Amino acid sequence: GSFSEIKLTEIIRNNIMLARYEKPTPVQKHAIPIILGRRDLMACAQTGSGKTAAFLLPILNQIYERGPSSNNPEDNRGAYRRRQYPLALILAPTRELATQIYDEARKFAYRSRVRPCVVYGGADIGQQMRDLDRGCHLLVATPGRLVDMIERGKVKLDYCTYLVLDEADRMLDMGFEPQIRRIVEGDKMPPTGERQTLMFSATFPKEIQILARDFLHNYVFLAV
Ligand code: AMP
Repeated sequence: GSFSEIKLTEIIRNNIMLARYEKPTPVQKHAIPIILGRRDLMACAQTGSGKTAAFLLPILNQIYERGPSSNNPEDNRGAYRRRQYPLALILAPTRELATQIYDEARKFAYRSRVRPCVVYGGADIGQQMRDLDRGCHLLVATPGRLVDMIERGKVKLDYCTYLVLDEADRMLDMGFEPQIRRIVEGDKMPPTGERQTLMFSATFPKEIQILARDFLHNYVFLAV
C-alpha cells in the first residue's frame, strides 16, 4: 500500500511527501479510510505505530475540504473565521505528547489555511492565550489546561465537530476523567452523533470501554 491509494486532497498529499512518509503504517492504512468515511473509531494502538498521523491526516483533510464552502455555509464560514472556536480538539495526557501532536499537525497543515494551536499546563498561560487569539482551527490540549481556558472564555467548543482522545488509558491513569467529562459532556461540545469522535488507547480495560460507550456513536473497533 501507498498513500496515493488513500483519498486525500492534494495539499495534504504534498505535505505527506514533504514529511518523507513513503507508505502508511498498518494503523494509518486501516484508520484513515474509516475516519474519512465519517465513522467514530475506537483504536487500540501503541506509541510508535504512527497513530498521530492516522487521526491528523483525515481530520485536517476534512477541515480543509469543508473549509469555507460546505453544505452548511453560514455556520461553517462563521466558525472557520471566528477566533476561539476550534473545529477539532485533540486531548492528550502530557505536555510532551501534546507538543509532538502539534508539531506533526503543523507539518501536515502547511499551506492549508488550517491553523493548529497547543495548550498545556506548567507553562505561561498568557502566551498560550495570545496564540489562541490569532485563531485556532485545530487545538491540541491537555485536559486540565483546557478546562482553565474554557473557564476563561478563551476556548469555545460549540463548533468542535472532531474530537480525539489520544492515549485515553494514560489520561484515565493520570486522573483526568473528571476534566475529560467536563470538556466532552459540558453543554457546549456538539453531542455524540453530531460530532466525530476517535479514541486511541494502548489497552482496552473496563474504564475505557465505558468511556467508549459514553462518547462514541456506532463506532468501529480497530486493533492493530
Ligand atoms: P506515532 O506513533 O504517531 O508517535 O509515530 C511514531 C513516529 O513514526 C513519529 O516520529 C512519526 O513521525 C513517524 N511516522 C508515522 N507515520 C509514518 C510513516 N507512514 N512513514 C514514516 N514515518 C512515520
